[in-house]
This record gives sequence, structure tokens and C-alpha cells, in this order.
Amino acid sequence: MSSSNVSRRNFVKMSMVGAGALALGGLNAHADTKGSVKFDEEYDVVIIGSGFAGLAAAITSTEKGNKVLILEKMGRMGGNSVINGGIFAVPHSDLQQKAGIKDSNELFIKDCLKAGRGYNYVELINTIANRAQDAYKLTLKCGAKYVPEITHAGGHSVARSLQTANGSGSGIVQPMIEYFQNNLKGEIRTRAKFDSFVLDESGGVIGVNIREEYRFDTKSLNDDIENTTGTPKTIRAKKAVVLATGGFCRDAFFRKTQHPTIKDDVDSTNHPGATAGGLVEALRIGATPVQLSWIQYGPWACADEKGFGVGSMFNVNASFRYGISVNPKTGKRYMNELADRRTRSEAMFKVIGDDQNYPINFCDSQGVATLMDSHFKKPLESGVLKKFDTIEDMAAHFKIPLEPLKESIKKYNEGVKAGKDEFGKPMDTVAGIMIEKPPFYAVRGTPKLHHTMGGVMINTKAQVIDAKTHKPIPGLYAAGEVTGGVHGASRLGSVAISDCLVFGMIAGENI
Ligand code: ADP
Repeated sequence: MSSSNVSRRNFVKMSMVGAGALALGGLNAHADTKGSVKFDEEYDVVIIGSGFAGLAAAITSTEKGNKVLILEKMGRMGGNSVINGGIFAVPHSDLQQKAGIKDSNELFIKDCLKAGRGYNYVELINTIANRAQDAYKLTLKCGAKYVPEITHAGGHSVARSLQTANGSGSGIVQPMIEYFQNNLKGEIRTRAKFDSFVLDESGGVIGVNIREEYRFDTKSLNDDIENTTGTPKTIRAKKAVVLATGGFCRDAFFRKTQHPTIKDDVDSTNHPGATAGGLVEALRIGATPVQLSWIQYGPWACADEKGFGVGSMFNVNASFRYGISVNPKTGKRYMNELADRRTRSEAMFKVIGDDQNYPINFCDSQGVATLMDSHFKKPLESGVLKKFDTIEDMAAHFKIPLEPLKESIKKYNEGVKAGKDEFGKPMDTVAGIMIEKPPFYAVRGTPKLHHTMGGVMINTKAQVIDAKTHKPIPGLYAAGEVTGGVHGASRLGSVAISDCLVFGMIAGENI
């Protein structure tokens, strides 16, 4: 905090909402409180969250001449964005054109609608199709690097996804942070937790109540309500606040209220801070909730490690593409390994049952030939990924009945040759690779909670829509996983980065 900010104390007549009463001393006060608010600092734009969405908003908004502050409650920046696999769907990219792949907005929308079971907001997907190129260029300007080949992510009808050169979302997040901090002299404050909005008399957002030196409790399942650490402060946002707090896969209470079958101890690929606090504050001031109960499992996670781990990308890029997943009890395949995430997760849970009968995902040496080290060597070194010289060894290790397993491999290989798979796997994506050349590589697969499709309603300008007036809440924008509607019932892999970057960028452009 600069001293010039401290000296610019503003006293505004307004209503304070929720823990906005914090400034008056009560952490859990929820009712509107009329009174004067003393601002400790002042910015044009305050952005809550330092993932893809928050960073994109921060960069475009700063480039328009605004003084921008990013608040991040965790000690580390980047949320889920920094730990995901770094696959980014960009219809009409230069790489797609170079590969001679024909794509269209209509096809992209059709794919998203198919995975989303038709619950998607088409105008938002269309906006992504129109602007993903610009978001891609924004990341290139910041210094992000991508592998030169286009990737065909599960559930897409054509290859249209880019893969970061380091195989992780950090390949985009880190350059964006550096660009924002070094080139634009922007400010990111970590351990700064947003608690509530400050509103003016007409209900417009004019600031935020936060706590500095906040210490997130990684052991708490309900950090947003149990944690009272930190020092309160009130910050004025002269032009707007952007809510970019991500999803709530790690919020045991909130996810269970929306989706009662989710158990408290189920694992998630998300960072520990993926909680619903920010979303709840937006709902408190009247934001329209959209489809909060659509919560997605990532089907490509591994049972023998915690979180997103190092094995997920082996499944995404090798076993599911160039290999198969079998039920260890029967040795048989049971799904199209490249179907959308919801379809695959449902199929896998049926196999897992109540006795943790985790499916075995595997491929041969050709399947891993093009994997980058972070997707191959790392899981091998960690022990999550196992190497076998023969199918017999693999069957013995996982106690899979050998003959049915061999039969499954034979049938799959015949399908590769014939270009037609019994489960409908798109054979044009497997590059003719059969499971035949040792060694073989296998993991125990499991779905883990990965993405919350629901969130606050936004329009194509990233403005948050009031449930009562159906109009934008003045001064409030939102982008990324905290918003709902784009993905419908199930998000297609690699469209999260597009969603977060596009609407973050748009929020910044429109403020
Ligand atoms: P997205 O992909 O939508 O950008 P991310 O999960 O990558 O989402 O980033 C969201 C960030 O917001 C995370 O780093 C998370 O810690 C942060 N965050 C969540 N809630 C708060 C809050 N109340 N105050 C400050 N930061 C928050």
C-alpha cells in the first residue's frame, strides 16, 4: 500500500453489505448497514483472483490506462490456472490452419452443446469462438509459448487446442504475471482476501472489504466461514470490481449443497483455495445464480496420487488417446476414452463401485513417444506411472485376468486398423497407433472433482446480471470459473482457458 493511497481517505455515504460490516468490527455481520465508509486505498479497478481470468482482465484494463490492483487470498498466485494441463481451445488458430483443419464457430458451438447437454448459453460460447484468437494473441504478447502441433482434445470434433510448451497452465500464467508486474507495473497483493462488496445507495459496487495478511487454512473444509485471520481494510474501486475467484470444487459445504452425492473426502484436482466465498458475496448482492449444481469430474486423474498430480496429463495425452482403459476385474474395455468428461466419469464410477476397483489406463511405447517430460518422466519417477515389459507382467501386477485383457487389446487394435472403434472412439485421432510395442505404461485411473460449471450470470460484456432487475449490477464484472452458463452440464476439455481468458479480456476492455 502506498502512502499516497493512505492519505487519500474517502468518506462516502453508502450502504455496506455482508462482511462489509467488518470495518465496524463484526466478521459475521450480514445485514446491510447504513453509514459512512472510510476507504483506506483507491484504485480504478480492483480484480479479485490471480488466475487466467483475473490476469487477462488486469492486463487489458491496465492497458486502457486504469490503475489496477489484483487481490489474491493465497500465498501463491495463479489458482487452478497455474496447475492445470495448459490446453487451450482456439478455433481458427494459425496452427489449426497450418494443419489444414477446417473449423467453424458453428462446429465449436455444436461440440460445446453436445458435452453441455444443451444447457450452455450459446451467446457466450459464440463470444469465445469469436475472441479466442485475440486471447491467444494476448498470451503470445505476454511471452507464452506453445508446442507447434495442434492437439485434439476429448469431445471436440476437430483438433483445435493449443498446448503450452511446458505442458502446464503455468506456461501462460507466469508470462502474464511477469507482463503485468514488469511491463505494466501492475500490483498483485497475495494473502489479501476479498470478504465483501461495498455498495453505493443505488446498489452499485464501489469497493471491497478485504483482509490483508490472511492465512488460508489448507486443512479447513470451510475456510470462508471458519477463518478469521488477517487485518481488515476497505478499498475503493472507482470504475469497477472484477470477480475472478474461480470455482468451488474444494468447498465441501457449498459443493454438497448443490450436488448432494459428493462426499466430503472426495479428491479434487483443484488448488485448496477453490472455495465459494467470492461467488456467495456476488449472490448476496443480487447476482443471478446459474446452474450451480453442475459439477464436473476430470476422468483422467490418478488414484495413486493427490490432486491434479503428475499423472493426469499422461492419461490426457497418452493412455486415453493411444491406449485403452479396462476394468481390472474383467479385463474388458467399458468406454470411449475420448468421450466428453461427464460420459467418461460416469462410466468410470460404475467400474470403481464401492470397492475402489480403479480402472487401468495404459498404452504402449509408441503411445508415449511424443510425450513431453513433464507428462511422462515425472509420473514415472513419482511411481504413479508403471512400466511393464510384457502384457503378462501388467496383468499380474494389477490382477487383471490375462486372456480377456489380451482379447480387449486385440479387438482395439483391429479397430485401429479398420478405422472404426466399438465404443465410438474417433480413430482419426489415434494416428494408427496400436497397443503392441513394449514396454507398456499404465496407471490406476479415477475421476476427481475438477470444474464447477455454474456461477454468476454474465452477459457478453462480462457484466454481472442482477436477478431482480435483469440488468447489469453497476460496477461489477465477472470472468472465468466463477461465472456460469458457458459450459452447460459439462465443460469440454481445453475450453476453460478460452473461457477465462476471453471474458477476463472482455471485462478489462469494457471497464
Ligand atoms: P480462473 O481460472 O477462473 O481464473 P483460478 O482458480 O485460476 O480461476 O483463479 C482464481 C483465484 O482467485 C485463485 O487464485 C483463488 O485463490 C483466488 N480467490 C478465490 N477467492 C478469493 C477471495 N475471496 N479473495 C481473493 N482471492 C480469491
